[in-house]
Amino acid sequence: MIVGAGTAGLYLAGKTGMTVWEKQDKIREKACGGLFSKNVEKHVELDECVLNKVNTAILRAGREELVISRKEAQAFVVDRFLFQEKLLETSRNKGAKVVFGKQWKGEEEDFVIGADGALSSVANNIGVKHNFIFTYQEEVLLREKTDTSTVHLYFGEFAPGFFAWLIPLNDETVRIGLGVRKGNPKQYYDSFIQNTSIGIREVLKKQSALIPLFNPKHRIMKGNKALVGDAAGQVKAFSGGGVVFGLRSADLLAKAMEKQDLEYYEEKYEEKVKPELANHLLLYKLFQVFKPEKLLRAANEGGLKELIEQAGDMEDLSALKKQALRTMLKPKIMIKTLKAFL
Ligand SMILES: Cc1cc2nc3c(=O)[nH]c(=O)nc-3n(C[C@H](O)[C@H](O)[C@H](O)COP(=O)(O)OP(=O)(O)OC[C@H]3O[C@@H](n4cnc5c(N)ncnc54)[C@H](O)[C@@H]3O)c2cc1C
Repeated sequence: MIVGAGTAGLYLAGKTGMTVWEKQDKIREKACGGLFSKNVEKHVELDECVLNKVNTAILRAGREELVISRKEAQAFVVDRFLFQEKLLETSRNKGAKVVFGKQWKGEEEDFVIGADGALSSVANNIGVKHNFIFTYQEEVLLREKTDTSTVHLYFGEFAPGFFAWLIPLNDETVRIGLGVRKGNPKQYYDSFIQNTSIGIREVLKKQSALIPLFNPKHRIMKGNKALVGDAAGQVKAFSGGGVVFGLRSADLLAKAMEKQDLEYYEEKYEEKVKPELANHLLLYKLFQVFKPEKLLRAANEGGLKELIEQAGDMEDLSALKKQALRTMLKPKIMIKTLKAFL
């Protein structure tokens, strides 16, 4: 049995045909930026779910700006509701029974898969407790048209422990959100909006939700139970993006279910997914320890910007990490990078 008809649960059901229990009475739109890297299409064909494509990210901190840009689209902005409906349809085509209005309260079956999100009861049952980023997001109509090819990330005291974002759906509709490690994200959001030049004409949606922080010490299975997606904390700690790693992990779990062997899932996850999630955690920690403004300056002046643009992968950072270390060990670059920190 799979607990939770979110992204991870429905995708896994589409691979295995397993029964899903969902506590809500129907598919609902998940609070989410809906920004998925192009890697998502290794798992799901997005087709009509795509609202927009982006090729540029601008990271801002204080007076520093890092512009990461490529010619081709790097990420999709997705209609989250259509995406869930698509996964639901695929799971039903595979023969999976999705039971709405059914909450898991500790019932046992041969296998219990916790795909029940950030506040997972299955995770709780096996002793996994997450730390969280608290978020608030609005979908809004802007007063002025915006560039549809660019997402914006804003780092600063207005979002302690995380950042604020702006993701364009089209040239006048955007998702603006903000995350914090503690406190009320809505209050931080209001003060962020008051102090920026972003002009909002109308608020279309308001959403608030939790992002679990990846923790490499957490187990993802115990006995006949396994966790996948947010329930397992399979989220990029730096950006909060969890969809692609959730799908990737669900693929491994689907193979494990074929073998009726959850330890296979844990073994493959340790080998193929966890090291990349650990890279995102390292990046997150760097932004907590050092001033983001200095990190962006160092990236601009130490040649990292070009490396990131060439690598162009929003999930797999291992190759980029190796190259960045190699580049920064060159004396000239090292001096420039150190100067950027002073
Ligand atoms: C504000 C915000 C912005 C984000 N932006 C992005 C982004 O741009 N890109 C990206 O990749 N990721 C983003 N994420 C993360 C992404 O949304 C999640 O990683 C992803 O949706 C997790 O999917 P999931 O299936 O694991 O969990 P969920 O989508 O949370 O699904 C869990 C399901 O389990 C059900 N459930 C819970 N408990 C039980 C129970 N006991 N019994 C039965 N059912 C139960 C819930 O009702 C829910 O339907 C964002 C998250 C937030 C909060």
